[in-house]
Amino acid sequence: RRVKQCPVDKDELGRSTWNLLHTMAAYYSEKPSTEEKKTMETTLTSLSKTYPCSYCADDFRKDLKVHPPKLENRDELSKWMCEMHNRVNKKLGKDIFDCTKVKERWLDGWKDGSCDP
Ligand code: FAD
Repeated sequence: RRVKQCPVDKDELGRSTWNLLHTMAAYYSEKPSTEEKKTMETTLTSLSKTYPCSYCADDFRKDLKVHPPKLENRDELSKWMCEMHNRVNKKLGKDIFDCTKVKERWLDGWKDGSCDP
């Protein structure tokens, strides 16, 4: 029998959004054009205005002002996204993620092969 599906709560929304944001950064161009940079900047700015948790969005907008996105290339953006997520982790009392592992977590899979099909 089909299980009834319910609206997402704040945490599930957060996990889904981080999935999207880190994966977007992981696949961002290694040599983005001016237009690609602008599109990414607009995407982040827009999300910070529409994110459907108002106090999360308030902090997100403030954070973008203090720490503008690093749009030069994939590695820079992935590191910036990791650091942005860590600022939220810190605020929520969660563990800080080791940003040297961001490529394994979000692009290549772990070196021990645990993500291999
Ligand atoms: P999440 O924090 O959702 O992380 C998911 C996975 O990402 C982790 O399991 C880990 O594998 C990986 N990960 C963790 N840290 C990093 C990192 N630094 N870099 C790369 N990968 C990482 N919730 C609130 O209660 N208050 C808020 O103000 C708030 N603001 C938010 C703002 C934004 C922009 C977003 C996207 C979410 C926000 N959230 C907020 C939700 C919150 O960040 C978490 O998503 C939620 O608490 C669920 O946490 P989690 O422990 O399941 O892991």
